[in-house]
Amino acid sequence: VPELPEVETVRRDLANEFAGQRVKRAEVSGRRSVRRHGHEQEFIERLEGRRIDGVGRRGKYLVVALDNGDVLVVHLGMSGQLLRAGAADPLPKHAHVVITFSGGAQLRFVDPRTFGQLFVTSGETVELAHLGPDPLVALRSPDDLAGLLGRRRSRLKPLLMDQRFLAGIGNIYSDEVLFSAGLRHDRTAETLSGEEVARLYRSLIATLHEAIACRGSSLADEQYRDLFGRIGSYQALHRVYDREGRPCPTCRAAIVRVKANGRSTFYCERCQV
Ligand SMILES: [Zn+2]
Repeated sequence: VPELPEVETVRRDLANEFAGQRVKRAEVSGRRSVRRHGHEQEFIERLEGRRIDGVGRRGKYLVVALDNGDVLVVHLGMSGQLLRAGAADPLPKHAHVVITFSGGAQLRFVDPRTFGQLFVTSGETVELAHLGPDPLVALRSPDDLAGLLGRRRSRLKPLLMDQRFLAGIGNIYSDEVLFSAGLRHDRTAETLSGEEVARLYRSLIATLHEAIACRGSSLADEQYRDLFGRIGSYQALHRVYDREGRPCPTCRAAIVRVKANGRSTFYCERCQV
């Protein structure tokens, strides 16, 4: 599932490739990908003729500014890919939405599992309104994180993954951040010392920046691709995620995996307290 670093990589690519370009044609072959609209024609009409003024991001959502003040919101879901292609390039399977720009290039939304979606809106939507702050925008110091954590009794991993608390972090980066901070997934926020909050802050920011520099993580299924169809490289630097039984990079103890609510958590029992 694409998280903040993967979505940020796609955002930068989109801005470089399509900012200033005008939508010539939009085609929808997968209803479900535009399910927020009553009819796919509504999505098409709100997009055709519009110019891309800029590309932003809120957590895992791409927010594309259009020249009439509307925004095109894209959520990649589990398996969604936004791919740049030439109009003559063969159309891949599961290309549910195809946007052709005045310059001739196409932006294709490919999504085998169809959890992702695109919609055009004129204002704040429920999804965006409920999002917490973006860690790379809103957290400037350990004090900012301490303020957010407050006296919360939630366990750290579910809290980091709660999009209303912080937007953009999921299963991979919560495990990597907590390992790097030396904190267990099931510690509760209220038990953290000031020094531990500072470590969590530094790990959070450093891990996200490092993953963006590597253009994100592509797992064994290789479903995450950047705008040009290339995989990311941060998976080679994962220290605990999907590494059950392999040695901890710090102490060589075997990485442990526990399952809760259908999700796996990976951590080192010696290094994380
Ligand atoms: Zn260890």
